[in-house]
Amino acid sequence: MALYFQVLASGSKGNATLVCSERTRILVDAGLSAKELSRRLDRAPVRPHELDGIVLSHEHQDHVRGCGTLSRRCGCPVYLSGGTLDHLPSQVGTLPHRQIFQSGKGFAIGDLLIHPFAISHDAGEPAGFVIEHDGCRLGICTDLGIATELVKARLSGCHGLVLEANHDLQLLIDGPYPWELKQRIRGRHGHLSNADSFALLEILHHVDLRAVVLAHLSEVNNHPRLVIESIQGLQVEDRWRGVSFQVGRQQDVAQGVELSNGS
Ligand SMILES: [Zn+2]
Ligand SMILES: [Zn+2]
Repeated sequence: MALYFQVLASGSKGNATLVCSERTRILVDAGLSAKELSRRLDRAPVRPHELDGIVLSHEHQDHVRGCGTLSRRCGCPVYLSGGTLDHLPSQVGTLPHRQIFQSGKGFAIGDLLIHPFAISHDAGEPAGFVIEHDGCRLGICTDLGIATELVKARLSGCHGLVLEANHDLQLLIDGPYPWELKQRIRGRHGHLSNADSFALLEILHHVDLRAVVLAHLSEVNNHPRLVIESIQGLQVEDRWRGVSFQVGRQQDVAQGVELSNGS
């Protein structure tokens, strides 16, 4: 196994993705309670005390809710940007073991290389990540209003992708949210629509892309059925047939995926 990943939760009520090599285990985001994260890890091949770190994309509650309790309980460091630290909700509590990273500067946790890059979202210093091990690259990028050239460049060549497909634009426009919130979600610092997400996927396709998880679906402004229909639309083309797809879920863990270089 080169690189294993499993989306433990995905959506506006909480996000967390487990990423492992044979000897290093991290969470990217910890947006459920520590208790619920531990319960979800029961469905994964890692126990909470085996975690080597928690990496935060940004400070919104749905990404940080359990990180303080879990890191204190397990003694594992939290890796975050300075801007995320400055805006962290007080409920997270103290982080006795914390490491500050900068977008554009890679760092290692065990034998995983983490490459953070800046994304456009209404947070202090939000980041997407490419996580690399043994020639395998996994891109994790949720909570972005627009796929900038930087995002496209950083996510190119990934073997696995966890990518936001937040809303169907028409459902958002017709939906119950107040006008200001609709504008925020649609804006450059909001969330990626299904159409934007699949347009990005078309750009990111390459022959070694193996697995894609569409993530952070809005429960109000999206429906898994719409995302699945878009996936089926892609799969009409031969070039997508070798790629496994999943839709990340709020209430349950997704299937674990093993990526290996060249397989
Ligand atoms: Zn979020
Ligand atoms: Zn957010």
